[in-house]
Amino acid sequence: MLQKNQIVELTVERLSNDGNGVGHYQGFAVFVPFSAPGDLLSVKIVKVCASYAFGIIEKLLRPSDMRIADGCPHYQKCGGCQLRHLRYSDELAAKGAFVSDAVRRIGGFSVPLSPILPSPQPDRYRNKVQYPLTKVNGHIQAGFFAGRSHRVIPCKDCFLQPQLLNQIVELACHLLEEYHISVYDEISHTGLVRHIYLRHGVHSEEVLLCLVINGENLPHADTFCQRLTEKFPCIKTIVLNINRSRTNVILGPQCRILTGPGYIHDTLCGVPVRLDPLSFYQVNTLGAEQLYQAAAKLAQLQSGELVLDLYCGMGTIGLSLAGNAGQVVGVELIPEAIERARQSAQEMGLSDKCRFFAADAGEAAAQLAKEGLRPDVVILDPPRKGCSPAALDAVVAMQPSRIVMVSCNPATAARDMKYLSAHSYQPAAVQPVDMFPRTKHVEVVIQMTRRMVL
Ligand code: SAH
Repeated sequence: MLQKNQIVELTVERLSNDGNGVGHYQGFAVFVPFSAPGDLLSVKIVKVCASYAFGIIEKLLRPSDMRIADGCPHYQKCGGCQLRHLRYSDELAAKGAFVSDAVRRIGGFSVPLSPILPSPQPDRYRNKVQYPLTKVNGHIQAGFFAGRSHRVIPCKDCFLQPQLLNQIVELACHLLEEYHISVYDEISHTGLVRHIYLRHGVHSEEVLLCLVINGENLPHADTFCQRLTEKFPCIKTIVLNINRSRTNVILGPQCRILTGPGYIHDTLCGVPVRLDPLSFYQVNTLGAEQLYQAAAKLAQLQSGELVLDLYCGMGTIGLSLAGNAGQVVGVELIPEAIERARQSAQEMGLSDKCRFFAADAGEAAAQLAKEGLRPDVVILDPPRKGCSPAALDAVVAMQPSRIVMVSCNPATAARDMKYLSAHSYQPAAVQPVDMFPRTKHVEVVIQMTRRMVL
């Protein structure tokens, strides 16, 4: 039996689906963060459970040839990236394996996977930045929270963020400092500015800047806005988000516009979108376009067909298919997102063939099934916990010929695949997509087709 603090030697065999390396010591599985398959390691055991243990690298005795220099001074401290020490090609192979493992182990299928689609940009792909602030030697700096703590570690250039956004953050910090505006302290719940939050329209090149504040007003707001927009004309709107709660949730429920319309424009696969601080939006724009193209390919839409887009957010997947479709019906829980979907449909001149409902996916799908809706294709893009049984039941009752599942969690997607396969559907294609390079996360698109009943 392993003991806490024991030092053991092992070779890492593979990566587990949470991005940790896995090796064995005397038959006992040991998970080691930031290791690579092929590493020979001296490992310090930090936690022992019934059938496995966790360890940290004490010494890298022989490095795997998958390793590269991570190049980031904050790696392993900030928690944003888990796989930056791997060659990107090896990261992609590991993520393909996460998906095939879930499909086989949880779903029980041996369906072959299409090769994973790499992200168009392996670094600086994020269109959303949210940095907590801190003060170091009298200077305000943006950074990240050190793991499981309230301590902000300054970081000038995160490699997942576009340099433009990092430069805007730097100027915003400089201005706050010049105006003697205080930064928030999580422990004492004092100070004003909690986070700087930016959104970037990759195609429109517009930027939204939001200050999350523990208060109602920003002193010197007018000159703050003026100086930022003068230096960075791409900043089209500046917004305050009011968050006075003692919480580590970043955004509060309420926003106040300081300048501009309160949102920026962008497009996703040609669908016009408006982004405010509170809207859900895919964080990797070019990656999301590739994901939507993969979903469109597997939807195999014939002209005039009916598409039901469940968990539709701002309706972007359904709307990106709407040009070809006869009709699109979208369902999403958040009313503001549905409002946006309707606006986009209108801007695209497609209002006539698009209907969007703000409702629970399961309840709405059951109702639509009862009303006799018979979509040809159903898109399912649920949150990480996967689809509700009610949603899956209703989809099965509508008997679409194709179901395209889009998921950021291969485990729950495989569970939902299994459910659908017990109700006349079979997996026809599984396409992993890397939307979040350098992190452990992977996205998957799955096509389920209806079995012919003879
Ligand atoms: N398809 C969209 C959004 C996917 S994220 C896109 O590509 O951008 C999942 C979405 O499911 C979120 O917008 C979330 O608000 C929504 N959601 C979560 N629970 C839901 C439920 N029970 N019913 C309907 N929508 C739900």
